[in-house]
Amino acid sequence: MSWFSKGFEEAEAQAASSGGFIRDFFLKNGEDVNGVRILDDESINIRAHFVKGKGWFTCIHGIDDEGCPLCEAGNKAQNQFVFNVIDPREYTDKNGKTHKNQVKLWRVGITLLRLLNKRRTTYGPYTTLLLNISKMGAGAWDIVAEKVEEYELGEGQELYEREEVLAPKSRKELLAVVNNSEAENDDDDDDDDDAASWRKS
Ligand SMILES: [Zn+2]
Repeated sequence: MSWFSKGFEEAEAQAASSGGFIRDFFLKNGEDVNGVRILDDESINIRAHFVKGKGWFTCIHGIDDEGCPLCEAGNKAQNQFVFNVIDPREYTDKNGKTHKNQVKLWRVGITLLRLLNKRRTTYGPYTTLLLNISKMGAGAWDIVAEKVEEYELGEGQELYEREEVLAPKSRKELLAVVNNSEAENDDDDDDDDDAASWRKS
């Protein structure tokens, strides 16, 4: 990776990868979302810690010689299998701007990944599936798939570079997260409320 990048899209990508806002795809219990599209052929598989008020942090246990401060603090890492998806839900932000079909990151667990993989085996590659997803409760999902054309990204739709946005922070940075986990969030420049439920705690 170079020490600089050029242009607006790269600027957005950099903002997203340097601790900026990542839109997470999230369903509440009892919620249905029809028309979800997966944009990647395969998941990226990581382990990650959830820190209240701060979001997800990729676990660094076993990556280098230094231990993971979040593991050491007793925060249990979860297996996550991560995709770019299109969220077809429409919502209006606090500035009155309406958003639809945003690219988001979907972090699924093994139960859901197995279900998705079943649909893939039956119908074809993830990127050709139109998904109607229901979350009945914690860990209880139903997914109806239909094979369609591959999704074409429109204007303003950029995939997250998962290798960048999920890249682990340094031990020093994670230590700061542990020591500072009750600290106030600065609001950055994001104006998205829908996926920010974890920020409100
Ligand atoms: Zn860890």
